[in-house]
Amino acid sequence: MTQRINKETREFQAETKQLLDLMIHSIYTNKEIFLRELISNASDAIDKLRFQSLTNDDLLEGDNNFEIFIIPDEATHTLTISDNGIGMTYEEVVENIGTIAKSGTKSFLEKLKEKETATDNELIGQFGVGFYSAFMISDKVTLITRAPGQEKGVKWESAGDGTYTIEECDKEKRGTTITITLNEDFRNASRPEENFLQRYTIENLIKKYSDYIRYPIKMNFIKEEQPLDSEGKKIEDAPAIQSVEIRTLNSMTPLWTKSKNEITTEEYQHFYKDLFHDWEEPMEIIHSKAEGTVEYTTLLFIPSRAPFDFYSPNSTSGIRLYSKQIFIMDNCKDLLPEYLRFVRGLVDSPDFSLNISREILQHSKQLKLIGKNLEKSVLKTLENLLTKERPKYEKFWKEFGRALKIGAYTDYSSRDKLKDLLLFSSSHATDTLTTLDDYTKRMPENQKVIYYATGKDQASVERLPQMELLREKNIEVLYLFDQVDEFTIDALNEYKDKKFQSISRGELNLDDIDSPEAKKNTEAILKENESLIQAVKEQLEGKISDVKISNRLKSSAVCLVSDDNGISLSMEQILSEMNQTMYKANRILELNPNHDVFNTLQALHETAPNSDSFKDYCELLYVQALLIEGILPEDPISFANKVASLMARTGK
Ligand code: ADP
Repeated sequence: MTQRINKETREFQAETKQLLDLMIHSIYTNKEIFLRELISNASDAIDKLRFQSLTNDDLLEGDNNFEIFIIPDEATHTLTISDNGIGMTYEEVVENIGTIAKSGTKSFLEKLKEKETATDNELIGQFGVGFYSAFMISDKVTLITRAPGQEKGVKWESAGDGTYTIEECDKEKRGTTITITLNEDFRNASRPEENFLQRYTIENLIKKYSDYIRYPIKMNFIKEEQPLDSEGKKIEDAPAIQSVEIRTLNSMTPLWTKSKNEITTEEYQHFYKDLFHDWEEPMEIIHSKAEGTVEYTTLLFIPSRAPFDFYSPNSTSGIRLYSKQIFIMDNCKDLLPEYLRFVRGLVDSPDFSLNISREILQHSKQLKLIGKNLEKSVLKTLENLLTKERPKYEKFWKEFGRALKIGAYTDYSSRDKLKDLLLFSSSHATDTLTTLDDYTKRMPENQKVIYYATGKDQASVERLPQMELLREKNIEVLYLFDQVDEFTIDALNEYKDKKFQSISRGELNLDDIDSPEAKKNTEAILKENESLIQAVKEQLEGKISDVKISNRLKSSAVCLVSDDNGISLSMEQILSEMNQTMYKANRILELNPNHDVFNTLQALHETAPNSDSFKDYCELLYVQALLIEGILPEDPISFANKVASLMARTGK
């Protein structure tokens, strides 16, 4: 026999302590969800065992009567939930209970700390509280578990005070038993729905949250009956006879197998919240059955809110896969394209074999076919939202729009499908967002391109000197605030045969300012000022690639643009934030020939082309142009000094 491991007291990991503190000091208003969480864990544990036993019969230890048992005990104030699932080994208990392995939970806690609001229900709803929720209602939680094939079980116990004890113990039956000792508040709960030892309350909670769980959730009911006399009549004055009746509390019908009209919205919502640990109702529900080349049922949900770690690389995604209602795998990523990874849900298809591996699955024809159909129906749902329920779509867009934009940018094959679902801010749609279709419908016939401007927010875009002219001409400009926007626009290249045109790049393609006469005029100014332009260029050598006479400026003296080749200035900024400093935009300094500063520059160049003043002017104009673009100069101190000395000189 192996040496038995003695009882030890261990500290919870720091994050777990925080989480427990939150639980105990009660962030959740509806504490009843602890039961749902524990039952869901029990059901997952049975799922796992059942699945593994397909290839290893021994794991069953002769017991394939899968069930979850609930035992309320008023005398000890305890509620016990036991399952005959996969159980846990000593190491697994240490690893799973007492540490927070999930990175999502860690970043959740960090977020919470940032906000310093320990009661932020919205935040907490974004992750599954799981096992720890038991501490919301209890003084002590005891977990006894044994994994199949293990000789000994493990006993884990904690009062949620920062430490737990763990020791080996005997456990005959495989699986996990969790015993919750209710705390003072819940021992004599005044509200009957919070009296978690009442069978009636438990029954209701199971119906509400766990009805579809595929394993029977059983409970003992004590029946009291008067004894009968020899004629079969009740003997009223004799003491009642107690007998125990075991009842199954859940209907065990997986929700998705019922037909749509048998399911209420609440049922869908409970199911979603339970399965995907969400606090909020889903925004959209897609439930459909398909028969034909492949047969499957799918139940998909578009969440109302993006998980806080949605855009981080380790956020989980994917669809649950079932075959004839038996769980095969979680997070099956191959069913939906990356850009739809916010969709939660499941697919149940009899065409999958139960022990299909992820590798085989990837190449499965059925999977591809189902995936295509899922994509289509999600896109259709989004299209419908966009056209019929615009405010809802905008809410969706706020949460997940970025995923679609990234999709249009990274996934060549999806561009066409996504282009009509994209929304942008625009100079002509101030309080709402616009689709590209709306933009083109508003375009005057002679407008050749779709204009866009990039910036960090509306105010900064509207202040761009390049905007002035377009505003004056009442030309609509899309505002791109999100870093990915410009990459998306760049990838799309055109919409309905209209190219996208940055107001800070290349020529503006405006009939009047790009007309032959206007061009001639600009060329004439350029010719007259050739040596000035050349001198400015020399002063700024290494910083810019060219100096031009501008035809897009109204009241500003200068602006910085980039040419049509290479990347734009804003892309350069984004890339450099990502440490990709080898990509540079070709910077062109445009001078406004109608601005007074231009005259000053001309005069200075004529009288003192080699003076410090001329040099300073060139430098100052360049830094101004940078600042307008939201780019800090390399040497802000020198800039400040130059401005100061200029002020001193002119103030005299
Ligand atoms: P989650 O269920 O979201 O993973 P929990 O904190 O509820 O998070 O549980 C952590 C882990 O503990 C589970 O992933 C599982 O591995 C293990 N666990 C919890 N309950 C059980 C159980 N009844 N049987 C076996 N393992 C369990």
